[in-house]
Amino acid sequence: MSVKFQDYYKVLGVSREATEKEIKAAYRKLARKHHPDLHPGEAKAAAEEKFKQINEAYEVLSDPEKRKKYDRLGERWQMGDDFYYEQQPGFDGVRFYKTTGESGFSDFFEALFGSMRSGFGGFQQRDFGGAPEHGTDVEAEVELSLEEAFHGVEKTLQLNAREVCAGCGGSGLRGQGICALCAGTGERVSPKTLSVKIPAGTREGARIRLRGQGGAGAGGTRGDLYLKVRLRPHPVFAIKGDDLEAELTIYPWQAVLGDKVEATTLDGQVTVTVPPGTHTGRRLRLRGRGLPRKEGGRGDLYLKILIDVPHGASPKELELYRSLAGLRSGQGV
Ligand SMILES: [Zn+2]
Repeated sequence: MSVKFQDYYKVLGVSREATEKEIKAAYRKLARKHHPDLHPGEAKAAAEEKFKQINEAYEVLSDPEKRKKYDRLGERWQMGDDFYYEQQPGFDGVRFYKTTGESGFSDFFEALFGSMRSGFGGFQQRDFGGAPEHGTDVEAEVELSLEEAFHGVEKTLQLNAREVCAGCGGSGLRGQGICALCAGTGERVSPKTLSVKIPAGTREGARIRLRGQGGAGAGGTRGDLYLKVRLRPHPVFAIKGDDLEAELTIYPWQAVLGDKVEATTLDGQVTVTVPPGTHTGRRLRLRGRGLPRKEGGRGDLYLKILIDVPHGASPKELELYRSLAGLRSGQGV
């Protein structure tokens, strides 16, 4: 991900040698001029954008520590390189797709100073005051088979954790330049193995919270990891709400005469009674063999009857079929 360099001096219209007093004066003047409340209608969005930039610039330049860091990094940027850092890629069935805790600061600011969890929606002055930050909450997906979700399972997940860079202690700087280990982000993405207990009866879309396994906050507590459960399509069972559906294939004589046949359920093999005169497409209901319901109990399993013939009929069987056919045509059917 490429991050656009923000020229905070230009935003405030001050020189690189500007004193704290000059910076403050420039900020006040610009903040008054671009305050969104003073720009109603169509101009409001542009004013808000500008106001955000001004606030961000002031946030950095009014803080001696932040300004120093920014200045040192700025030298590199002037060579023409945009900032670059790697978005954490997901692997092994775990996909990161969202982090919560948007701050309203530019990507550049976040890359340089870390992301702020507490959003800043209004235009009040924020008080960062060096207080420890809570890490970001992270959401990931975990794919399970229907059996794993139903019975519960212990899963070993591989995911990419973001750790504070050991090369620079999270500052992004080393000596006179950008830390080479983390490319100035202050973070390192390292593979991490995590063992997760998936409780029995877990359903599609369930969110499992893993306390403290999210992103690291600078000096603060870690955020949480939320695992969102997705079920792989099952070769036998289709999920219809709390119920399951499957096909049950029987032979023509079983359909005519009725029979007891074995059927597969999530609980194992069960014996199912096929009533005499069962047509193809008929649905047999097996009560309580579906998925666990939120309110307790379980849904049902519906077996859809398919009638099929065995391969390679023997001469004796063919003879019987012929007499059956003769009987039927004699009846004029
Ligand atoms: Zn580093």
